[in-house]
Amino acid sequence: MLDINKVRADFPILNEKVNGKPLVYFDNAATSQKPQVVIDAVANYYATINSNIHRGVHTLSQLATDAYEISRQKIQQHINAKHSHEVLFTNGTTHGINLVANGFAPFVKQGDAILISAMEHHSNIVPWQMLCERVGADLLVIPMNDKGELLMDAFEKLLTEKVKLVAVNHISNSLGTINPIEHIITKAHAVGAAVLIDGAQSAPHLRPDVQALDCDFYTFSGHKVCGPTGSGILYGKEEWLNKMPPYQGGGEMIKEVTFEKTTYADLPHKFEAGTPNIAGGIVLGTAIEYLNSVGLDNIMAYEQELLEYGTKKLLEIEGLKIYGTAQNKTSVISFNVGNIHPYDIGAIVDKMGIAVRTGHHCTQPVMDFFKIPGTVRASFSFYNTKQEIDALVASVLKAQRMLS
Ligand code: PMP
Repeated sequence: MLDINKVRADFPILNEKVNGKPLVYFDNAATSQKPQVVIDAVANYYATINSNIHRGVHTLSQLATDAYEISRQKIQQHINAKHSHEVLFTNGTTHGINLVANGFAPFVKQGDAILISAMEHHSNIVPWQMLCERVGADLLVIPMNDKGELLMDAFEKLLTEKVKLVAVNHISNSLGTINPIEHIITKAHAVGAAVLIDGAQSAPHLRPDVQALDCDFYTFSGHKVCGPTGSGILYGKEEWLNKMPPYQGGGEMIKEVTFEKTTYADLPHKFEAGTPNIAGGIVLGTAIEYLNSVGLDNIMAYEQELLEYGTKKLLEIEGLKIYGTAQNKTSVISFNVGNIHPYDIGAIVDKMGIAVRTGHHCTQPVMDFFKIPGTVRASFSFYNTKQEIDALVASVLKAQRMLS
């Protein structure tokens, strides 16, 4: 069981006032808040061991290198990767997906296909479009129904041997749908396609077991799991990472450089050119430890309670429609009220100290599917409360009175 008072005490920002009102932070799908232990770890790194990693003989550099590599191992254990060199530090999910979309180019020919889904974030659409344009491949899309669930029959029809890679999100950021990735991975492998899972929205709620899932790539952002911005990881199976060419060239990723030829470093360094976000990488490990100390099972169970409560309370508002009503979903409620523009609701609830996101949430095709310009999105985290949801409901009602 999660002790909500104890948890809230870990997050100093929850004591802030916004527009004179206590902050109610419901924009967790965009980025999470940071517990004190994470904030302290950033300061502690710069105050005690700040140094460039991997190249120094001096003690400080070795301390920083050790901390960075220990963090990699913590993340390896967390996602159950076979080897720590299968965990690449990135600056976030977008970076992870672009790295794969670039490195995968030699394995996709003209006439082949990449298969994504109708509910992808732009960062799991555009890199694949760029790859398809580059090699002359087709981008195929798994459709969804009105609840925001992927159509598995259509998926199986689209999945021919032309498909070289399937890239889907584990959980949709605009609808909250939890996708059946186990099934998708098994089916994709049956036609010889590799699978990338965009775990940006799942990592804050679920512990991925990449070996049990048998996915080829899994990526997430540190800032959504209570870690620093500009941190993240890409898991890739060793076999793929060895085959793929590096994404960026530079220092750290080489074995030997001459003007005639460069040979590349072993994994993971081959994909980690330049000075990385050292503090970010180290503190991402701290953030994952923090989440595990609260317990992801406790987090998920508590957030499901908030989801159920929030859904029920919001639906009591006349004219309110929720987009994303899948059976299996996380604590994201995307909604509109009558014909009121989502931005107007967002602006009014903000005056009451409540942070929600409005717009297309980087999923324009999802908005096109529902024929709407955008939604108001309230995304709950494990440090939110039912009282905060009541405050949201009251402020949406107030916005409705003011605007209609
Ligand atoms: N995919 C999904 C499903 C997301 O929710 C996000 C962030 N909103 C991203 C990818 C991109 O993550 P980042 O901006 O941290 O790279």
